[in-house]
Amino acid sequence: MKRALVCGAGGFIGGHLVNRLKNEGYWVRGVDLKYNEYGNGNADEFVIGDLTDPVICRQVTEGGFDEVYQLAADMGGAGYIFTGENDAAVMHNSALCNLNMLHAAHLAGVKKIFYSSSACMYPEYNQLDPENPKCSEESAYPAAPDSEYGWEKLFSERLFLAYQRNLGITVKVARFHNIFGPQGTWRGGREKAPAAICRKVIEAEEGGTIEIWGDGKQTRSFLYVEECLEGVRRLMESDFSGPVNIGSEEMISINDFAKMIAEISGKNITIKNIPGPEGVRGRNSDNALIQEKLNWAPSHSLKEGITKTYQWIAEQAAKEVELV
Ligand code: NAD
Repeated sequence: MKRALVCGAGGFIGGHLVNRLKNEGYWVRGVDLKYNEYGNGNADEFVIGDLTDPVICRQVTEGGFDEVYQLAADMGGAGYIFTGENDAAVMHNSALCNLNMLHAAHLAGVKKIFYSSSACMYPEYNQLDPENPKCSEESAYPAAPDSEYGWEKLFSERLFLAYQRNLGITVKVARFHNIFGPQGTWRGGREKAPAAICRKVIEAEEGGTIEIWGDGKQTRSFLYVEECLEGVRRLMESDFSGPVNIGSEEMISINDFAKMIAEISGKNITIKNIPGPEGVRGRNSDNALIQEKLNWAPSHSLKEGITKTYQWIAEQAAKEVELV
């Protein structure tokens, strides 16, 4: 039986990944600062531990693993990443998790390790026009990410690739583009746009108003979590190391996205654009490389994924109302 270690298993994507690996027949150890809030991620063993500590990283890699998935990071949505208030924590905590876990995996003789980078590492100067952002993999340099979160991701991509070059461990680097779905953070300040907009629409009265940060003309693409994991697993099984985009090419403005979610709710909702952290003006995945290297690219529609996500958040919100 193959053994996998999932770092960040208490988080959104990590929780789904644990389930996916279990369904594929792996024995899985999860590690995180916390258990998964929504009970996702039924690992065979779950260790509560801080991966900024090299001793913990050595301990959790004991026992031998065929694969390690390093998803642990100090992260959140625009309200966490783009305000500037959490820059030191984001850089320090995430870089230490990456430095320590990668080194521990190398010392433990792990053959293959996955690292989740982000589209936030792409240069801001290619993402100024909301209609024509450029996010092909080779456009990463000259580097100019618009956030410290993006700079840390870029540093860590290079760190992983350097370990592969110098120390022989096989690495797989993916640049995720806005992953969303059920069992993700939907309130509390770290939630990302899809969940935040769903929650606002759910909380709004019929005929009510929701607030959207920025002028709403900023564009993004969003990828449903199951498709993200399909990409991760295909990358792991391939002979390609990346970095490669794992994202959707279905670009949409944030205002149109909010209208889509309002339509799913069946409510008449007015959008009010207010000042707030919004990130780059435009961003979209470029899937030419993943198509070429893995002969596959995500293809499910945004509407399909956001409908399922909306329903899940509506259920969570209803449960909270019952508890009050
Ligand atoms: P998440 O915040 O839900 O999960 C990250 C997990 O890492 C959390 O459960 C957190 O507790 C854990 N963690 C943080 N610091 C830790 C530490 N010191 N020790 C142990 N665990 C620690 O985020 P997610 O959305 O599941 O993202 C997973 C990975 O994918 C991250 O590396 C993130 O940067 C990357 N990513 C995500 C997206 C997205 O849209 N969700 C986009 C691009 C990249």
